[in-house]
This record gives sequence, C-alpha cells and structure tokens, in this order.
Amino acid sequence: MSYKLFIPGPIAVSEKTLRAMARPMIGHRTTEFVALYQAIQPELQALAGTRDPVYLSTSSAWGVMEGALRSVTRRKVLNCMNGAFSDKWYDVSLRAGKAATALRFDWGKPVDPDAVRRELATGGYDAITLIHNETSCGCMSDLPALMRVIREFPDVISIVDTVSSFSAMPLPKDELGIDILITGSQKALALPPGLALVSASARALERAAGTEGRGYYFDLVEFQKNHEQGMTPSTPAISLIYALQSKLEDIRAEGIANRHARHARLNRTVREHVLAKGFTMFPPPGFGSVTLNCFANNLGYDLGALNKTLKSKHGLVIDGGYGKLKGKTFRISNMGDETDETIAALLRAFDAALAETPRVPAA
Ligand SMILES: *Cc1c(COP(=O)(O)O)cnc(C)c1O
Repeated sequence: MSYKLFIPGPIAVSEKTLRAMARPMIGHRTTEFVALYQAIQPELQALAGTRDPVYLSTSSAWGVMEGALRSVTRRKVLNCMNGAFSDKWYDVSLRAGKAATALRFDWGKPVDPDAVRRELATGGYDAITLIHNETSCGCMSDLPALMRVIREFPDVISIVDTVSSFSAMPLPKDELGIDILITGSQKALALPPGLALVSASARALERAAGTEGRGYYFDLVEFQKNHEQGMTPSTPAISLIYALQSKLEDIRAEGIANRHARHARLNRTVREHVLAKGFTMFPPPGFGSVTLNCFANNLGYDLGALNKTLKSKHGLVIDGGYGKLKGKTFRISNMGDETDETIAALLRAFDAALAETPRVPAA
C-alpha cells in the first residue's frame, strides 16, 4: 500500500524529482559530471549563504557530521544537546576518540547562548557542535544569538547541523560566521535519502589540514581537493545529484523568498489548527521549528491508533514521537513541497482520524 509521509524525514518526494533520478548514468570523472557539479554550486552556495564551496557527500548527514568532528577537533569539542540528534553527537564524539563535553538541555528546550558562553569560557575547546533545528522535538534554537557567542572564542570551529532547516528559511552562513554547515537530502530538500551537503570555511580547512586521524571518506581536505576539479573524492550518488539539480530548478522557479514564506505559512496553519483542538506545543513559545510542529499529547490520545487510522483510511502518516517521546508527542512535517492544499487535506484527515481515536489513561 502506498501512503504519503508527513513525518519529519524522510519526506514525500515529487514525481519530477523521481524522474530526474531515472536519467542515464554518466562517468564521475567526465566533463559531463564536472559540468553538473559546477552548475549547481552557485545555487547551493546561495542557499547556504556562503562563498565557500558546498561539497557533496554520498552518505546521510551523519557521515559528514562525524567527518567534520574528526577533521577539526584536536583538543576538545563541546556538544550542545537538546534532543535525540544532538544527544547522539556526544556519543559520536566519544566513539571518534575525541575529548568531549556534554552541554545538556531538556529535550525540546533551546540551546541557551549564555550557558554556551559559560562553558566555552572554561577553556580548552577548539570545536562545538550545534543543531539548528532539533527535529526530534521540533525545537529551533536561536542560531544568530548562538553564533554571536561562539565567535567570541576564535579557536572554536563551529559545526552546525541544518538538516531540517536548510532551504526553508534564511541561513546566512558567512554572515553568522558558521565554519561548517551540514545538511542532508531527505528532510527540508525533499529528496530521497543518501546525499549530504557540507560547506566548510577556509579556517575549518586550515584546521583540518593539520589534524590527525581524519580518515579518507569524510575528510574535508579531500573534499576540497576534489572540489577544485569539479568532482567528489569517490564515486558519488549521481542519480541523487540529478535529483538535487532538479530541486534547485524548483527552488529557482518558486523564488527563495516565496519558499521561505510558504514554509512559515504552512507551519503556522498546522500549529493553529492543532492548538485549536486543545493540544499544546512541546517546545516553549518562540522556539518552535519552522519545518515541523511537535505537539504534546496532553489530551492523551492513543497515537498508535491515530496513525493507524490515518494510514489505512487516508493514506497519510505522521510521527507518533521520537525515541523517549514516543506516545508523548506527535510531529507533523511541513517540509519540502507541501502546499496550502496538501496541508489542508492532511488537516481534514487528521480531524477525521482523531474523532475516532480513543484516549488512553495518562501514563
Ligand atoms: C535526520 C537528522 C539527522 C540525521 O540524519 P541522517 O540522514 O539519519 O544521517 C541529523 N540531524 C538532524 C537535525 C536531523 O533531523
């Protein structure tokens, strides 16, 4: 049975994108590939708000998240944690053999710039990881405020995950002073999974060049060397790069400001609709994500039953809570290609399914 995903990743992929992936293969060391690679650079740089190159990695985002960490951490990294993905980053730091400190906030609460300053001021850090939009709990931290703090510490290379916010809102990497910006294909870009984008500053590359144990596949220096030839270090997922090229056409046709406005509008539509039913937001006011809404299940609905009805009767799937939030929150994505019409249809289905969903006693 086929159904449409409104979970916050992977998300629905358009027919046009899927068709782009069906194009015949080209060699990855040919002039055709170099032309493809170079043609998409300016638009990727515009989306990332940077003059630095945007490398293409055949992996999910975690590949380059780990690679960035290995490339720039020599002394100690500060991992800012406020949800499942940012928590994982601390674990990855330790597995990569890095000295790391966990700066923990409750899931759903934003990363506090003052707490970051206090911790960085204790000294010894040369890298920091940060998730702009914590998809697991729909919480968006104040990136400009955080970057202002991080820039007070010139030794600290910033690694910022924009997996679920990239292209949905302005992300002026250079203006904010972000060293390494990372995103993946299957969230806000509405591509199938398997491709990650990473842009690194000259400062970050300089650090990487003198850092031991970078490995090969995710080494930033290797990406840069190949970028200069219009290529990737190893054979890339060429079909996904065609899909990315097609998506960039879509973004150009819509206009980036219109795209940002559409995400903000659809996000608000979902939020207002669901709050009017008596649900509350999981993140605090002002820190909700622009690409999804994470609601608290304060009314105690059986979210498993709700999703079962949505899927079987309406062909739609939302998320019933990530990890330890399963059953306690639900998330609805408005990423990618959603429109006023598709969101309206989703909300009609949501209302119908909710009306036949039992409530369960509070846990
Ligand atoms: C989905 C997600 C990731 C992990 O991406 P993978 O594609 O599974 O590697 C990392 N960070 C955020 C914010 C995400 O939403």
